[in-house]
Amino acid sequence: MTDCIFCKIAAKEIPANKLYESENFIVFLDISPANKGHALIVPKMHAQSLTELPEYVAQEFGEIQLKLSKAVMQATQAEGFNLLLNDGKVAGQEVMHAHMHIMPRFFTDDFHFKWTHKKYGANEMQEYFEMIKGNL
Ligand code: 5GP
Ligand code: ZN
Repeated sequence: MTDCIFCKIAAKEIPANKLYESENFIVFLDISPANKGHALIVPKMHAQSLTELPEYVAQEFGEIQLKLSKAVMQATQAEGFNLLLNDGKVAGQEVMHAHMHIMPRFFTDDFHFKWTHKKYGANEMQEYFEMIKGNL
């Protein structure tokens, strides 16, 4: 028996407002939404990080994001939306089963999503560019 809440939802052991389901995914409403209509796209396979998912699951992830973003926007008449994946505790992940948030946004909402913009030192941007490119 798993302790993972999203595995339990995927296995229908605990209820959720299921919006969409495929062999590999389940999509449902977030129980404590940032805004009403906030949905979660969850791969059924247990993986803590997006980076642990096999490519075929990651590809379907992209397709479902597009489908659900359109449906959430239409349904909520939102003025925009955020797709957000918190990967790791440091990034704010609380449920340690990879998932993508779709959050409808309104100019009047109280959602603050800002960071301070850092500056690269001399040559540093080129170094980061090469380090990341070297890992592709
Ligand atoms: P995280 O911080 O891990 O990216 O987001 C976890 C999200 O899962 C939170 O927004 C939280 O409200 C939602 N959540 C946690 N437990 C449940 C649950 O049992 N049912 C549903 N529908 N959402 C949940
Ligand atoms: Zn899980």
